[in-house]
Amino acid sequence: MLLIFERGEKGRGLSLLPACDVPVVLPDDDNMRQKPLHLPEVSENDISRHYTDLERKSYGVNDGFYPLGSCTMKYNPKVNEDMASLSGFRDIHPLAPEACVQGCMEVLKTAEEYLCEITGMERMTFQPAAGAHGEFTGLLMIKAYHEGKDDRKRTKIIVPDSAHGTNPASVSMVGYTMVSVKSREDGGVDLDELKNVVGEDTAGLMLTNPNTLGLFDPHILEITDIVHKAGGLTYYDGANLNAIMGIIRPGDMGFDVVHLNLHKTFSTPHGGGGPGSGPVGCKKFLVDFLPKNLVDEENGSYTFTNPGNSIGRVRSFYGNFLVVLRALTYLLTLGKEGVPSVACHAVLNANYMMEELKDLYDIPYPAPCMHEFVMSLEGLKKETDISATDIAKGLLDYGIHPPTMYFPLIVPEALMAEPVETESLAAIDGAIQAFRELYERAQTDPQSLHRAPVHTPAGRMDELRAARHLILRYDFDERQKGADDDQKY
Ligand SMILES: *Cc1c(COP(=O)(O)O)cnc(C)c1O
Repeated sequence: MLLIFERGEKGRGLSLLPACDVPVVLPDDDNMRQKPLHLPEVSENDISRHYTDLERKSYGVNDGFYPLGSCTMKYNPKVNEDMASLSGFRDIHPLAPEACVQGCMEVLKTAEEYLCEITGMERMTFQPAAGAHGEFTGLLMIKAYHEGKDDRKRTKIIVPDSAHGTNPASVSMVGYTMVSVKSREDGGVDLDELKNVVGEDTAGLMLTNPNTLGLFDPHILEITDIVHKAGGLTYYDGANLNAIMGIIRPGDMGFDVVHLNLHKTFSTPHGGGGPGSGPVGCKKFLVDFLPKNLVDEENGSYTFTNPGNSIGRVRSFYGNFLVVLRALTYLLTLGKEGVPSVACHAVLNANYMMEELKDLYDIPYPAPCMHEFVMSLEGLKKETDISATDIAKGLLDYGIHPPTMYFPLIVPEALMAEPVETESLAAIDGAIQAFRELYERAQTDPQSLHRAPVHTPAGRMDELRAARHLILRYDFDERQKGADDDQKY
């Protein structure tokens, strides 16, 4: 496929603009661009075809089964988009006076109330722009809390080895040291090891429950209790809330601070890196440390307030407002019965798929799962040289997006599938069939699987070369030289 720069030709496509009828005044030499700007000269027709081509070559939840799940690409009801495109919400200015944006403030307040109810928290900030940003915010609050008591010996945050990579990164960003605890053979936190590592230097624990293996830790109350008894606080990574929302609350599991990923659980499309929203909620004793700009309501009128010991702002203004609006729309559409039913269907679908595959695929943690389950292809690879990558690439030829690969890190040759609640039985059965056929092919014709995919716009990628030879920018001058360099790889 041609790049947009390679389409069109000189002089084409500018005819829609009338000729300039005022004197041309150029900036002085210092402010002049030194090289000509490379703008593609294409007609409207060229552009339309270019983007239609791109659209046909991409794959999303609207195309078919997408087992990356709530964590990445849950179905986003179209009514959310209708609400987010209403002018009264979309065209507001962040500096508009409070009196002019009462409706928007009501959105924030209502979303906060519902999400606090769902998580068992007292208050919530919408400032953080993503889950990782929420982790950073929550840890800053934990730090401010300890420092507020002049307790400066607490420098360590405990994180299980099944955690998402953003957890250790956030720990180090706030200046804490991470202590990793191993998971038990059944996937839960090892209580003995936890007891060994907690102490006077424990600032807190970060935990995902259900964890990234899709397992709910049955000892969660003991875990949070051990940390509290040592004087630490507990942080809940809410990325997997899809499995439990409306059924059990992080607050009741003993957590003091939580983040949610509205763009995951509460359905905002975020392919390509944005936009997201990672609100952080906390128990009453931490409210004073929340970031600035909480919304308070009195007699039907809304004002922004700042907590007394606020950690300050972590982002400009009020966060990604339209993502919050989509989340609120989603909640209002589902209602009180709909929220837990999402969780129940997500868990049912994942367990069904796991049950239908476990005679072929090795499930290293075989307990009933929550919203996702993890397969290990280590055995298959030893036997047939077919890896998790090969099966994932094979799925592409069935028109199915592969599940998460090589995560969590504690499972070798991992494929982690999360079918989510909106997939029909027929769609899940189709995916199961594809997985089963690929397993057969690994035994009978592994060579052909190494070459998959063969029915996609692009075939098997050279991932090593893609990682080593990043081309992030179209360099007009270097193009020829770059083409020569390519030969080396
Ligand atoms: C996605 C995810 C995060 C990070 O959230 P972002 O919104 O992508 O920054 C943290 N923890 C877990 C378990 C996740 O799945």
